[in-house]
Amino acid sequence: MKEEDLYKHYRCPSCHQLRQLSGLTHLFKWNEQFKFSFMISVLASARQGHLKWSCDDCINNGKVFVGKPEDQDWNGITYPFFTHYDETLECQTCKCFFEFSKKEKKFWYEDLKFIVWSYPKNCLSCRKKKREPKVKNNRLTYLITNIEQTTSKQVEEIIDIFLEYGNYEKARYYLSVLRKKKDASEDTIQLVKEKINNLTQQGE
Ligand SMILES: [Zn+2]
Ligand SMILES: [Zn+2]
Repeated sequence: MKEEDLYKHYRCPSCHQLRQLSGLTHLFKWNEQFKFSFMISVLASARQGHLKWSCDDCINNGKVFVGKPEDQDWNGITYPFFTHYDETLECQTCKCFFEFSKKEKKFWYEDLKFIVWSYPKNCLSCRKKKREPKVKNNRLTYLITNIEQTTSKQVEEIIDIFLEYGNYEKARYYLSVLRKKKDASEDTIQLVKEKINNLTQQGE
């Protein structure tokens, strides 16, 4: 590549078109906010393909969201995201490809204030699966802390979670709690007891 081309051509990361400086007026507007020397390094980074920015066309036709660097956590040691555009990422767990949308990006980096170089490692469904045990644990803690106020249905829920964890001792303990609940029917108690016995036999 000729040196001349190196300074002339910028590949827009959202539409992948090669643009010249004249097609980057939106990026240049940041000159008003940042130091000139900083903008020089911003342009160098854009040329090398390490910058989150978009060409004028992408901005003008609404394909991307214009970023708000002042709302982002970029610590001044990297570059802010000048625009947010849809990107396809690979899930590290199930290896599927998923979209990290401009809307999600805006939310991640400007509302939740995640550091700008942090990226989702997993697709939405894998992220949800990983989050479930935590949600379940919080629920368990909540129910156990308020055990006096729990209904028989909620005690059943506690037992189910312990059974799922393979903690039969705790499950049996909460069966004794269930027996003391005034709203627990004999049928329910019997069913829960059978469930615990069945699982205990399988697990041993
Ligand atoms: Zn573009
Ligand atoms: Zn996945």
